[in-house]
Amino acid sequence: MSDCLFCKIVKKEIPSNIVFETDDVLAFRDINPKAPVHILVIPKLHIGSFAEIKQEHSALLMKMIKMIQDIAKKEGIDQSGFRIVANNGPDAGQAVAHLHFHVIGGRPLKWPPG
Ligand code: 5GP
Ligand code: ZN
Repeated sequence: MSDCLFCKIVKKEIPSNIVFETDDVLAFRDINPKAPVHILVIPKLHIGSFAEIKQEHSALLMKMIKMIQDIAKKEGIDQSGFRIVANNGPDAGQAVAHLHFHVIGGRPLKWPPG
């Protein structure tokens, strides 16, 4: 999977602004932030999209959720609020085919998204 952009970020072949890193999960700042806080949380394992999550990934997903909770506290948005987005497929505008959760906050967010 070495041709996947986010796999290259996991391997540090492409630099990124890392917020948290564990053996299984990486969080780094989005290169084109849409809000004061815009962090991407990815599994180090290549999973192509939200639709490709399987039962065997359940422990990994819980680790990602825990990291999102830790990010919210670290970035000071756990009380003000934040949004978690997983774009899946063309209509959602998924640009990178490696599962990622956007963690967005630090300003009021409109609903619904466009
Ligand atoms: P998607 O549209 O697939 O849900 O989101 C992909 C996100 O990855 C976009 O918000 C985009 O700004 C971000 N992104 C794309 N390339 C890079 C990169 O090389 N480094 C970082 N940090 N973010 C990237
Ligand atoms: Zn990948």
